[in-house]
Amino acid sequence: MPVVPELLAPAGDLEKLRFAYAYGADAAYIGGGDFSLRSNAGCGLDVLAEACSLARRTGKKLYVAVNIYADNHDIAVLPSYLENLAELQPDGLLISDPGVFRLAQQYAPRLPIHISTQANNTNWLSARFWAEQGASRIVLARELSIAEGAEIAQRSGLEAEIFVHGAICISYSGRCLISQFLTGRSANRGDCSHPCRWQYVLEEEKRPGEYFPVEEDARGSYFFNSRDLCLLAAIPQLVAGGFSAWKIEGRNKSAYYVANVVRVYRAALDAYLRDPDGWRCRSAWLEELTRVSHRGYTTGFALGLPDADAYRYDDGSYLRSYDFTAVALEMRDGLLWLEQRNHFAVGDVLELLLPDATNIVLPVKAIYDENGCLLDAARHPRMQVAVDCGSLPVMLPFPLICRRAVRES
Ligand code: SF4
Repeated sequence: MPVVPELLAPAGDLEKLRFAYAYGADAAYIGGGDFSLRSNAGCGLDVLAEACSLARRTGKKLYVAVNIYADNHDIAVLPSYLENLAELQPDGLLISDPGVFRLAQQYAPRLPIHISTQANNTNWLSARFWAEQGASRIVLARELSIAEGAEIAQRSGLEAEIFVHGAICISYSGRCLISQFLTGRSANRGDCSHPCRWQYVLEEEKRPGEYFPVEEDARGSYFFNSRDLCLLAAIPQLVAGGFSAWKIEGRNKSAYYVANVVRVYRAALDAYLRDPDGWRCRSAWLEELTRVSHRGYTTGFALGLPDADAYRYDDGSYLRSYDFTAVALEMRDGLLWLEQRNHFAVGDVLELLLPDATNIVLPVKAIYDENGCLLDAARHPRMQVAVDCGSLPVMLPFPLICRRAVRES
């Protein structure tokens, strides 16, 4: 019997967490305030408490990231933070720093510890080392192939977690000082300003201030930028690898991104588990993955060393073809109630995302405010409006995400 992997989603906040679970994630990981590697996606203890409670109510799992490389001054405040986390009882902590690992064992002794990818786990012997220290899971370095990761899964005595989708660093996962050097914001404290994705020019030593453009495409050049990882087509190899969890990157991405990527991997994995021999990577799934913000896709190191294609662009910037338009809340009196996230107007065509990776097309025929007055558009963030969009199936698993194709400018 193959190991059935846990589909593990990013959750930058409670809304993303709800949608991650609703669209098919078995588990999610969330940042814990100052001690997470995505400082913008870090949550306070009150939010973490609600997140743990949501996970329990829905029968899903939740892991809390405490994966900074700690400085001396962090050591004084980590014990009380870890004790607070212990009381919340998430399903595990994500840690990279051996010092933080020791403190977690002391102050949150019942919580399983997952060793973060940030610890650069590249071989079974170092994984076994972490097993002997008491870790329960190892998150594999993104610089490994599926075959190398599978060997670690078999020989380490630990659960092995592999990244299957999302942004990757041009440097060795997180071992990068470009951001710290150029902006004072440290990638190792979750505060990367992403300078690897900036545009650069050439300057000759004796002509200061004279910049020579270096162009890969019409928009400029992005020397250090990588495409995003996508292993959807490698599902057979991933299942054969025996990984306990498949991780999607992107705690700073939108709820729309999380929902859409999760539902595609859910649908593709379930289809494979039902019928491995008949499984094909459907073009509709791949197409959905191009409808979220991304920078072109690569398989990275998963199938062997990446070729030049991994770092070459059709367009060096983010590709974004759809906007997160609204959250669909309910059907009432024949109208669909939406909470706005981006401007939409009468005449637009929205799409409702269903958890099975299909969509319902919604032509917006009329928009009403809460008092029943007609509007030409939903202009304000989070305003609730009722939309006449024709007939819809009666039983829909609300709340659902609505999107709209980006308008041509
Ligand atoms: S600058 Fe780029 S390569 Fe460096 S840590 Fe940030 S995202 Fe990764």
